Amino acid sequence: MASQSLRPKIAFYWAASCGGCEITITELGMQLAVVGDLVDIVFWPCIMDFKYSDVEAMANGEIDVCFFNGGIRTSENEHMAKLLRQKSKLMVAFGACAHEGGIPGLANLYDPESILERVYDTSPSLDDSAGTRPSPSTQVPEGELVLPTFYDRVKTLAQTVDVAFYMPGCPPVVDQVATVFEALLEGKIPEPGAVIGADGKTNCDVCTRQKGLTGARIKEFKRPHEVEANPETCFLAQGLICSGPATRSGCGLPWIQGNMPCRGCYGPPDGVEDQGAKLLSAIAAIIDVETAEDVQSAMDTMVDPVGTYYRFNLSDSILSELKYR
Ligand code: SF4
Ligand code: SF4
Repeated sequence: MASQSLRPKIAFYWAASCGGCEITITELGMQLAVVGDLVDIVFWPCIMDFKYSDVEAMANGEIDVCFFNGGIRTSENEHMAKLLRQKSKLMVAFGACAHEGGIPGLANLYDPESILERVYDTSPSLDDSAGTRPSPSTQVPEGELVLPTFYDRVKTLAQTVDVAFYMPGCPPVVDQVATVFEALLEGKIPEPGAVIGADGKTNCDVCTRQKGLTGARIKEFKRPHEVEANPETCFLAQGLICSGPATRSGCGLPWIQGNMPCRGCYGPPDGVEDQGAKLLSAIAAIIDVETAEDVQSAMDTMVDPVGTYYRFNLSDSILSELKYR
């Protein structure tokens, strides 16, 4: 890490986001109060009444670090990403959605019209509003209200603006966030493009479960609610999909300690370009099949393959590049 002093003005913003990343920041609790004494939080619309005009009025580069969570789904998301990029020295892709598209990126399997049809026309509703779509433009006494444009896919932050570094996780683990904040306050700036608040290995490298994968062969996949998993044994050896072989370590394995398989939210480890392809390769290596029918039989027991292998990273995957090249 290079070291330099920071002028501590920071911003937090959410784009196509569930709000979980913002909750992580508030979970810093007293640590955040200490951070609040050490920095100026100049923009955080989730928590305080900041206006976009506050950001527009800032000088270019006035914000030292902007922590940006959420993917880029709409013209408003894109506008704010570009505005905050212009006003910030360092832009941090905070959380899986900004890093790799996250769960919202799975919507890239569908075209915009299909999504709007499902949300506004065919979803079950308690009232009779089915079929009512938001109007892109509405005239009110004060003038015209215009909704953001709904883009044809979810992009990552780095597919939209230059990103200094990445904090993975859905959401990032609180302790890791605290560590990153402390490092930045000490003027320790990561190398450009670094993945911070995480390690470089895979979860399998740090998981203490009995691997049992050497020679393990599975003929069918099971879902966590269908079996009582042995808490000492590798999930994959029990036929439960675990994303550990293709996922960056650093979260502390809270899911695995809670007897639930890793879902993959920390993204690919160092040296892996496509997390889904890596996981598919690891799973394929332990399927016990002889014939094409056996392969089909095993795959028939896997629910939602794309959502399993590319749960958090479809927007940033090789598949996405092929589709939108
Ligand atoms: S990374 Fe996870 S917690 Fe953060 S905004 Fe996306 S879905 Fe929510
Ligand atoms: S696949 Fe999951 S349970 Fe098995 S060793 Fe890797 S992280 Fe642990």
